[in-house]
Amino acid sequence: MSLSRRDFLKFGSATAAGVAVGSRGLDLAPVEAAATTLKIKEAKAFHGVCPYCAVGCAQLIYTKDNRIIDIEGDPDTPHTLGRLCPKGAATIQLSNNPLRPTKALYRAPGSDTWEEKPLEWMWDEIAKRVKAVRDATFVEVEKSKDGKDVVVNRTEGLANLGSACIDNEECYLLTKLMRTLGVVYLEHQARV
Ligand code: SF4
Repeated sequence: MSLSRRDFLKFGSATAAGVAVGSRGLDLAPVEAAATTLKIKEAKAFHGVCPYCAVGCAQLIYTKDNRIIDIEGDPDTPHTLGRLCPKGAATIQLSNNPLRPTKALYRAPGSDTWEEKPLEWMWDEIAKRVKAVRDATFVEVEKSKDGKDVVVNRTEGLANLGSACIDNEECYLLTKLMRTLGVVYLEHQARV
């Protein structure tokens, strides 16, 4: 079914009349397709790969006026046929996200009030505290069962929980950093 802009707008008001129309069996697929076509009209498409996990789903990244306006799964990809998981479908938020926090919230020990702090302050504070905990808990040598000294170079005072917001390369670098610090407790949950 081909849909003109006028038809699309007519469908738009019909949809506003209620979900009931949809539940009676109106096929909304052409409307959705038309909405996407309008959105990406005159946009340039670039091939990309979702950065989040090793599935490596291919994406089409649409730009207009040097700005990413849409990211979709690439239908020519044999292993996904254009599909993306919810996380991959939201990758546009890596570039455009007006909700992204630009300040840290800090609650001092014993306080019941959150204060806004610059991100640079938070990074310095985290670095200071990681260093202090590592210095206080680092173990260089441990006795084995048969009484021999074994070099372990580890800290059990720190742990690392990976984030759903970090991509493959960031995961790699974070793991390297943690192993360098001697952190042995590393965990990750890709969708939290
Ligand atoms: S996060 Fe989702 S969309 Fe991205 S590569 Fe992995 S499975 Fe594919």
